[in-house]
Amino acid sequence: MPREIALHMRGGVITERDPQFCTIRTRIPAGMVNSQMLRGLADIAEKFSAPGLHLTTRQTIEIPGIDSRNLQAIAAELDRNGTPIGSERDEVVNVTACPGLPRCVFANIDSTNLAKAIDNRLFGREMPVKIRISISACPNACTSPMLNEIGIIGRISPIRTPGLCTGCGTCVEYCKEGAISIKKGVSVLDPALCVQCGTCIRSCPFALLKSSGEHYMISVGGRRGRHPRIGRELVVVRTPEAVVDVVEKVVQWVYRRAWSGRLLSEQLEDIRFGQLRDEIWNMLPASVLFEDV
Ligand code: SF4
Ligand code: SF4
Ligand code: SF4
Repeated sequence: MPREIALHMRGGVITERDPQFCTIRTRIPAGMVNSQMLRGLADIAEKFSAPGLHLTTRQTIEIPGIDSRNLQAIAAELDRNGTPIGSERDEVVNVTACPGLPRCVFANIDSTNLAKAIDNRLFGREMPVKIRISISACPNACTSPMLNEIGIIGRISPIRTPGLCTGCGTCVEYCKEGAISIKKGVSVLDPALCVQCGTCIRSCPFALLKSSGEHYMISVGGRRGRHPRIGRELVVVRTPEAVVDVVEKVVQWVYRRAWSGRLLSEQLEDIRFGQLRDEIWNMLPASVLFEDV
């Protein structure tokens, strides 16, 4: 098959209304580009007479209006620029992430490097359904991870130091969920209301609220679009390495069991979500599984 046609058939090359032209979507995990890559993209767009650049909802950059006869040449330039052609079909598409650590004051995890690790392992894998993966470094969930086929949220649970609380109430003020109250002169946590954002831990002037250590909640089966749906919690793990292993397991599971033509959210029972959860619990060492304290 001629290389231009092969390129035209792959994900990341989107035929426009005028079929002579296509939009090129790039692969930019977590939307992280350095200034050199950004300049390179602008130069490439100009060289191939693109009318401009487009920032997508999945944190990639698209170059529209590319003559399909130039696909091979632009693919080579994008490779050299470190922003190769991406994906948008039934495959693992661009992994999105919020800024996370060390930038955001609310962050519990390093979300952008986790996105790169997942991208490195799984990007572009052909699937029966589209797999969108999104990471937020805290329960504020700025990238709406639970509205993706696979979502990851970085969390931290507070642990009270018994007997030392002064009852100053600072943590009560900081908790937006109303999960902490002062009873009999000391702070009391309601685990049912706590979303594990970790804010109260950083607020205590006496450092009496300890951290459980960061953990990663992984959800499956969310979606945006016409009929949004929130994904189901699959498992909570303690390390980024375990996250990558779990995400790979989910992708393999979906690859073997899902049907094309329906979104993953519509076939969670058919792919035996419960059995997937059991297998993941059996696959992981107990030391990386997180259970609420
Ligand atoms: S999800 Fe949390 S850590 Fe990420 S950008 Fe939003 S507030 Fe910051
Ligand atoms: S972790 Fe967040 S939600 Fe939970 S008690 Fe602390 S501030 Fe409130
Ligand atoms: S901020 Fe610290 S000392 Fe004050 S009520 Fe909360 S846990 Fe107790």
